[in-house]
Amino acid sequence: MLEMSSHSIKITYQFTHYLRPMALLPILHYPDKRLHKVAKPVAVVDDRIRKLVKDMAETMYDAPGVGLAATQIDVHERVVVMDVSEDKNELMVLINPEIIGRSDDFKTYEEGCLSVPGVFDEVERPAEVRVRALDLDGKPFEFDADELLAVYIQHEIDHLNGKVFVQHLSMLKQNRLKARLRKEQRELERV
Ligand code: ZN
Repeated sequence: MLEMSSHSIKITYQFTHYLRPMALLPILHYPDKRLHKVAKPVAVVDDRIRKLVKDMAETMYDAPGVGLAATQIDVHERVVVMDVSEDKNELMVLINPEIIGRSDDFKTYEEGCLSVPGVFDEVERPAEVRVRALDLDGKPFEFDADELLAVYIQHEIDHLNGKVFVQHLSMLKQNRLKARLRKEQRELERV
């Protein structure tokens, strides 16, 4: 059940395993080309989108991960789910998210991604951002984000634009990583 409080963008999330089977969606892994498609804006926030959000949230919590963009499950529409809370009980849903303001100062965080399992590296991004998005009723809202929330909002919007966080790293690191992941993939296929 997704419950949206009227004055908060935070959503209480409750698993409802008993109501219907979990819909866990397969997550694309870098360097899959489909991760580089640019997602289209959502035209109407309807039950189809709300079901997509629910499935994405279940997939993110199950992984477990901090955030998931629709691109990562091969749906190329501008939908993001995130939960940066410690107790994993503050689901955030961003439909058609846009960054409408950035701070002049930058901050470096070690990022990870469900599409690049086992890889963590430092990425520098604006420390604070102002975000505009639609909620589950299709209503626009705006908020300021800092710390981990700012990092992951930028990380997830990158996904919608076809960009994986490792593309912020040096070409040398990216090429080494691709070579390593392709080798691991070949080894898996041989088993
Ligand atoms: Zn990611």
